[in-house]
This record gives sequence, structure tokens and C-alpha cells, in this order.
Amino acid sequence: MYKPPQQRSKSRIPTTAPKTSSSQQAQGGFLVQPKGIETTGKQQDAPKYSQEAANHIMAKMLAATAQTSPQPDVEGLGLGQRMIQAPAVVDTLPIQRKLTVGAPGDRYEQEADRMASQVMSMSNNTLQRLLVPKEQTEEKVQTKSLKKSSTVPGLGENTVIQVEAFIKANQYQQAIDAIVSDQAKAGRINMSFLDGGAIYYNSSLAGEGQVNPPGYAGTGKKQKANPSRVEIGSTAFVNGVSLLYSSMMHEYQHVLQFQVSGTSPSKVPGQGLNPGLIHQQEVEAYSWEAIHSKQTGMYSKPTEMQEIWRRLHDEHWVNLSATEKKPLIDIVKRAYKVAQNAVGKKVTLTFNP
Ligand SMILES: [Zn+2]
Repeated sequence: MYKPPQQRSKSRIPTTAPKTSSSQQAQGGFLVQPKGIETTGKQQDAPKYSQEAANHIMAKMLAATAQTSPQPDVEGLGLGQRMIQAPAVVDTLPIQRKLTVGAPGDRYEQEADRMASQVMSMSNNTLQRLLVPKEQTEEKVQTKSLKKSSTVPGLGENTVIQVEAFIKANQYQQAIDAIVSDQAKAGRINMSFLDGGAIYYNSSLAGEGQVNPPGYAGTGKKQKANPSRVEIGSTAFVNGVSLLYSSMMHEYQHVLQFQVSGTSPSKVPGQGLNPGLIHQQEVEAYSWEAIHSKQTGMYSKPTEMQEIWRRLHDEHWVNLSATEKKPLIDIVKRAYKVAQNAVGKKVTLTFNP
């Protein structure tokens, strides 16, 4: 299912020396598979209905019945509880209550339309089984993290709505800007680390994104990293807000890695071009994606989670010596746990650190 013929350039391009000019474009680099594409293909071992579909179904049903309900419920929960009485289902309702219904034509929306009409004609018992796959009821952590907001708890709800609209309208730069602005306000992105205080969409960039080591300015204690030019490619837009957000933050981890050692939060800081460091920094960036997948919403996309782990392990981790693995082993273990939980028990990830 993986390994589509398309190739993309690697996120962090190692083939040129750290640069001082942002106009210089690196060529080549490692080639890996696009992430996200495979989700349009067959689902392996996924519950019969995707999380998105289930969310939309619930949102639609709530909206539909709310019109006939004489007493609207403040939280929108009363209706759901009446419709689905099993305690296991109530546990998952907070996930669904705040979701907005997408515009017609949306892939998940179409799925939701079809499902909603089927669902309405089912008994409570059937409905319960449909909306609550086993893995989900067992995933208390997931429920807890998703309670906070919609499917992308790490972004403001308005930001998610805006970004969805921008992506739908192919306004990719605006989508990126909205996420940068949101995350800067939340203290998760330092805009002064970014060239021009922004992240740029590059339509000709194959893959999700790239950033080159920016070089340093100053010497001694005054030394600091130059701002990094981060570019996002069109592959980052193929699977909704979560993939875009996760991809942008992946690149931002490289920006942090390029900060001067001691001020960088990275376990493997530096702008070196030796393959060992580059693989280490990729392992760290993909680990971030797995560990923060509940924040980005990637956690509810098992195929993406499998792909994150595949890249982390197959493309980078296996290339590291024992010494190079050492500073990363803890975060890789954490990443494994989250990824394995996300893909569910039926799928065993290839490597257990
Ligand atoms: Zn990378």
C-alpha cells in the first residue's frame, strides 16, 4: 500500500553547506514517500467508519434532531444521551459535540451524509456498535485529549475553521499564515526564528516541506542562528488541517534544532551536514509528530501514524549507530507508544524500541 511512485525531497535538505542566503535552493536530498496520499486508498484494519465520518455523523444527527427538539441542551449533550444510552458511548460524546458540519462535497461530509441516513434507521444497539469501535472505547487517553476542542485540539477552533476553508479554496499561503499566527500566539512558534517571520508555501516543492541549516551570525556568546527559511509543499495539503499543522511543526523542530546549542530545546542541536546528525534530527522531528499527535489530530488518522513511524524508523533510526541513538532513545520510546496506540492492536509496528 505504501511506496507510491511519487517521490519527494526530504524535509531537512542536507546536501548543501549551511547557507547565509535564503535564495539558495538545495537540490536532491533523501527521497521518501509522500505522507497522506495513502489514506485515499484502502484502509487497513481501520474501524469500519473513520473518526471523521463518525464525528460528522454525530454532528449531523445532532443538528438534524436539534430542530425538532423542544428543549435545546446547552452543551448539545442531552440529545446524544437520549439517542445513545449505553455508558460506553457517553464517554465518547464530548469528542463529537463541538464539531462543525463541513460543507457539502467534502469527502468526509459525503460519507457522513450517506451514513447519517443509514444511522437514523438503525436500532440503538446497532448505532452504538457503529459509532464506538472497540479501540476507541479502550483509548481513554484519546478521549481525554480530544475533549478540549475539535479534531485539532492544538489550534484555536476558529483557526481550524479558517484553515479548512483556505485549504478548500486552494489558498495555501493563507492557510499556513493562519496556523503560524495561531501558534505564535500560543507560544509554540517563535516568529523571530523564521525568515521574514513567516513560513512559505512553495508550489514547486515536492513533498511536505523543507528547511535548510541557516548558518550562524555573531561569534562566541553572541552567536545565534540566522532565521530559517521554511517552505511547505503541496503534499502537506492532501489530508486536512492535521497533516498541514503536523508537517509545519515538523519543519519547525528543525528550526529549533538549528538554534545555538544550549539555547536549543533539541536533544540533537546543530547545523552539521554529517548524515548521522541529519538522521538524528529527523528522528527527533518525527518523534515530535507522533508524541504530539493528539495535539495535531494526527492521532485519529491511523494510516498517517503508521507512516510517521515508518519514516522515523525505516528511513532514519536504522541508520544511526548505538551512540547516535542514545540521546533519542527516550523520545523514540514515547513516540512508539503513542503510534502503536493510535494504529490499534490489529496493526503491529515493525519495531519496538
Ligand atoms: Zn524533517
